Amino acid sequence: MTMKKPDPLSAQRWLARSLTALCLGLVSEPALAADVPAAASPTLELHARSRRETTTGSGEFRVIEQRLRWDAKKTAIVICDMWDQHWCQGATARVGEMAPRMNEVVKAARQRGVFIIHCPSGTLGFYKDTPQRKLAQAAPKAPAKVQLKGWCNLDAQREGPLPIDDSDGGCDDQPQCQQGSPWRRQTAAIEIAEGDAITDSEEAYYLMQQRGIENVIVMGVHINMCVLGRPFSIRQMVYQDKQVVLMRDLTDSMYNSRRKPWVNHFCGTELVVEHIEKYWCPSITSADFLGGAPFRFKGDKPDHVVFLIGEGEYHTGETLPEFAGKELAWRGFRCSFVTAPPTGGNDFTNFAAIKDADVLVVSVRRRTPQKEMVALIRQHLNAGKPLVGIRTASHAFAATPPDDRHAAWPNFDGEILGGDYQGHYSNAAPNGPPTMIRVAPEAAAHAVLNGLPADGLRSTSTLYKNPAPGGTITPLLIGWVEGQPEKHPVAWVNTTHNRRVFYTSLGSPADFQQPFFRRLLLNGILWALNQPIPPGQSE
Ligand SMILES: [Zn+2]
Repeated sequence: MTMKKPDPLSAQRWLARSLTALCLGLVSEPALAADVPAAASPTLELHARSRRETTTGSGEFRVIEQRLRWDAKKTAIVICDMWDQHWCQGATARVGEMAPRMNEVVKAARQRGVFIIHCPSGTLGFYKDTPQRKLAQAAPKAPAKVQLKGWCNLDAQREGPLPIDDSDGGCDDQPQCQQGSPWRRQTAAIEIAEGDAITDSEEAYYLMQQRGIENVIVMGVHINMCVLGRPFSIRQMVYQDKQVVLMRDLTDSMYNSRRKPWVNHFCGTELVVEHIEKYWCPSITSADFLGGAPFRFKGDKPDHVVFLIGEGEYHTGETLPEFAGKELAWRGFRCSFVTAPPTGGNDFTNFAAIKDADVLVVSVRRRTPQKEMVALIRQHLNAGKPLVGIRTASHAFAATPPDDRHAAWPNFDGEILGGDYQGHYSNAAPNGPPTMIRVAPEAAAHAVLNGLPADGLRSTSTLYKNPAPGGTITPLLIGWVEGQPEKHPVAWVNTTHNRRVFYTSLGSPADFQQPFFRRLLLNGILWALNQPIPPGQSE
């Protein structure tokens, strides 16, 4: 499962294609008079995204993009539970943040003839005397394809389990908010106009049948709960054979990032969007009505992990991108790679990426990068930003620069990592004895060790000697060559200068094959970013 955001280039191509198609549409459709602006066209052009399993049962899904052309007059927008107030303060704030954009979408859609159904569940008393509420009550009952339900539960016949654990109610605040029902009405930021309807029940279906509505656009909150389950929302309307789409940028989840699968809140929302695209209906964005970029919450800034890779001994030019793709991308991290050829050379590509890195992951061996790049690394560290080093990072920049355009950093190990690299034992596989590893007992409760067994770990990497590391480090894992008495730390954290640094002297290709090492590196990166680390029992 991957969670790539569409890259800007493909978005541009997409836009170009849709503009072309729109022009062609204007030519070929006599119903559209020349003086009708495209924006007011009664045909909605929607870029729908869904996911289809490559072969049944494979669990591998690919993204399908489709152009939908819907008659606005046969289309309804359903606004789910955009309440004035939620028991969760974070949820209330996010509704407040997205409501103005939603109101713009609703205005534009209404103008084009889309029927708007406001569904602020449980607050209809507030609207009891309004014409919009009376309109809904007046809709005659209509036969249903499948018996209408007051709530549509997760349907195990049709969908997998939800990808997020919301069993605690999903408040992402700290401390968590107290649950209750403080909502009184729909947020005032969404205008309820003449001709709209207000309901929170299967009346929505009756309204649609009365008007010959075949297409439904669902927006609002919360995607893992009411957007799926309410009687006016996705599951019910799909059961009734409506053409349904979710507006995926105008929704939010109730998801606590300290619960499975331990990703940030916005990534949790995206995982549920994916779930809906797989099992229920395609999704669109508000850009289909308003142009520009889809809506994004202010707090939705993925952490930027910048890998510095320049070594030829341990093939991290291959293992780290693989690791980033499998372990970091779906968690919502943005990953960039600053690389020098494995065969040698001091000129790194793409080093400007360091400027907005949230964490640097260093796997470099005896290179002397461009002076500007070394300055950016120092700037990052001087700002108190975190760094993760693996294996050769201890002697990353220990070499003589070839000229005055490049710079060394011989004491990077002692100064930044807190280590004391003094070469390695010659216990190389396959003939040498393995490096044995156990958890440092006094660090057993450290979160970076979550999910690692306390003992019995082994590595075919030669053991790095670190006889006298700095007093500022907290050793996490201790290693020794099988049959020999000397012990050396092989993983530690260093928080001197208020900066989070994680280092491990492991990192050979064989280590990347070991689940314990992958978990250690993931935990180390999460810890460096001060993000929640999955507990031990997680996968
Ligand atoms: Zn809350």
